[in-house]
Amino acid sequence: MSRKAGVMSSSEQTRLPAHALKVGGMTAFSATDFPGKFATTIFIQGCPWRCSYCHNPHLQERAAASAIHWEDILLFLRRRRGFIDVVVFSGGEPCIDPALYAAIQEVKEMGFAIGLHTACIYPRQLQQVLPLIDWVGFDVKTRLPDYPALTSINKSGASILPCIEQILASGVDYECRTTFHPSLLDETALLELGRQLCDLGVKNYVVQQFRPIGCQDQALNLATQPSYPSASSLKELASYFPRFAFRAH
Ligand code: SF4
Repeated sequence: MSRKAGVMSSSEQTRLPAHALKVGGMTAFSATDFPGKFATTIFIQGCPWRCSYCHNPHLQERAAASAIHWEDILLFLRRRRGFIDVVVFSGGEPCIDPALYAAIQEVKEMGFAIGLHTACIYPRQLQQVLPLIDWVGFDVKTRLPDYPALTSINKSGASILPCIEQILASGVDYECRTTFHPSLLDETALLELGRQLCDLGVKNYVVQQFRPIGCQDQALNLATQPSYPSASSLKELASYFPRFAFRAH
């Protein structure tokens, strides 16, 4: 059953200082979270959606306090200068956090490039942080009317279009990606979604295979099909975009 839409409260729309950032975890070194660069990835605690395939369900609840103090993160990043190029803010959903803008600003002033992973849930906060971002990886999970079934949240597709339009208009480098699972996104829907993204002007699209790692839905874990999507569907999708990739695990 779908829950209420994940709408940001008025208090969450107010910017907070960086030390208020709620961090659920951190990966000290990643070669995969930002294309072509070595990154430290900071995982923001909290996401209003409940996707059945989520592989970070421990980051969904918005905790009362941060698991890692911001000052400790800054200390760590100072020591990583020269070893990493980029700091990526991921989640959860990083745009849920009213301290995100200030945190990004502080990290950028240290000389790091900034990456953002978002599921396109909070258009207003995304618009605020986009001028500070060097690259954004954004999820488009399914056709817009199908979002509530996938996220378990009513009206959850409503935020997607404004976020895509903002990202494309900003000129920020990006990757648009869709995680596919045969039980959640059939081949017809995947191709239709590809055509819609092409019409919107998306130029760089990745479809990535569902990963059972972390997913708590055993039915999904058992229902994967290695031959999905078919070679002909991938070929058709590739014809829609100047840059297209199929990411299998
Ligand atoms: S939007 Fe991302 S973090 Fe939130 S529940 Fe869905 S998969 Fe998990």
